[in-house]
Amino acid sequence: MKGEKLIFEKSRKGNRGYSLPPLDVPSQKLADLLPEKSLRKEKAALPEISESEVVRHYVNLSQMNHGVDTGFYPLGSCTMKYNPKINEDVARLQGFAALHPYQKEEMVQGAMRLLKDIEEYLCQIGGMDKTTLQPAAGAHGELTGLMLIRAYHKKNGNPRKTIIIPDSAHGTNPASVTMCGYDVVEIPSDEKGCVDLEALKEVLDEDVAGLMLTNPNTLGLYDENIEEICQLVHGVGALLYYDGANANAIMGYSRPGDMGFDVIHYNLHKTFATPHGGGGPGSGPVGVKEKLVPFLPVPVVEEDGEKLYFNYDLPDSIGKVRSFYGNFGVVVKAYTYIRMMGPDGLKRVSEDAVLNANYLMEKLKMTYDLPYQRRCMHEFVLSGSKQKKDHGITTRDIAKMLLDFNIHPPTVYFPLIVEEALMIEPTETESLETLNEFIQVMEKIAEMAQDDPDRIRESPFNTPVRRLDETKAAREPVLKWQPES
Ligand SMILES: *Cc1c(COP(=O)(O)O)cnc(C)c1O
Repeated sequence: MKGEKLIFEKSRKGNRGYSLPPLDVPSQKLADLLPEKSLRKEKAALPEISESEVVRHYVNLSQMNHGVDTGFYPLGSCTMKYNPKINEDVARLQGFAALHPYQKEEMVQGAMRLLKDIEEYLCQIGGMDKTTLQPAAGAHGELTGLMLIRAYHKKNGNPRKTIIIPDSAHGTNPASVTMCGYDVVEIPSDEKGCVDLEALKEVLDEDVAGLMLTNPNTLGLYDENIEEICQLVHGVGALLYYDGANANAIMGYSRPGDMGFDVIHYNLHKTFATPHGGGGPGSGPVGVKEKLVPFLPVPVVEEDGEKLYFNYDLPDSIGKVRSFYGNFGVVVKAYTYIRMMGPDGLKRVSEDAVLNANYLMEKLKMTYDLPYQRRCMHEFVLSGSKQKKDHGITTRDIAKMLLDFNIHPPTVYFPLIVEEALMIEPTETESLETLNEFIQVMEKIAEMAQDDPDRIRESPFNTPVRRLDETKAAREPVLKWQPES
């Protein structure tokens, strides 16, 4: 492995990464300043290393990974759009970055105004009545939304038992349902890739608490029956949850609230251009219709005509789902993005995202199988089954080969209903040149599958690590760097 040593292994006694000026105040013993219990018994085991080595260490580590700032990143369902750097500048303003969550409300009216404003923008974008900014990511938003659904049914006398999910759903959906104490009822998609209405009717009864759906779904396809679906689900007293992680195709064009949904989560770290990957931080605000407002997490920001205040007085609230007010820094970045784009800009985002995806789809379907031959939204799903059948080259091989071209692979083997799936989401922030380059690379790989399949099977060649045992990495993580023998 072309690896970096651990910073601890680079440590040499006596090296320093800082230099302080000579002391110009009387020195005092730490023990005179701090209580006994706060004093260390032993010195902290910190690496001793010079400033230049620290910088090189972390810059080298950062370059071992692929990021949207280093190359194209068409990872379907993840909306890896470029994150404008002005968002970072604004989040670092002292008036935001140096706030303390326990500061008095009078001192943080500006920050509270920002929370209130973005909440309202998100309501407008999603067609909802109120939003909570607390959830820390999309899956956390799902859990929060499902807890709201449960609280609503419970208040009405019966929490009910099941949540219906189509087989094209994102993996977090069934996980959130299970965590919330409901059983998952899976329904198949029809030949157009949408909810099979007959299958839905069969499973609808009074035990159903809700339906979880994303539209456009993970195949990138818009479900035109959405209003009928909502009517059917509401018909048995169940609620509709919209997985709005990827709202990149619909902004300014269609609103989940107007389609008939009762709850939605948004991923600020996808649609609203805050950075993500590597575990966060993210933000997954949840928007609700009026009937779910009483159950929202506390506090909610409200205004009494003179000032903004945090309202903790919601007797039916599900409580808190996150400390304080959510990931505030992420919210500031998304706020900046929304204000920069404005309503027309967000609409254009959707137009360009859909245009880019359709452009790639039309070009790539000449070389790869396209299981659902329909206009797509912000993403589409190809199948590598032709390459597998003709040359024994799998989607995994194609994904690995792409790395050598400095392109992050699409999402692979998801959604589960497409064999050898390659799920591609270019986003609106890529140029025609980048899209064309990707098409060329994908065509070249298809050619190589025929002419030089062994090279693809052995790829990647240029990455810090080559083919890893993917399950072993999760089950037996080796967290220590091993010197090469
Ligand atoms: C990304 C995504 C999620 C989960 O969001 P996280 O922030 O990763 O928890 C849920 N649903 C869909 C459709 C997604 O694309």
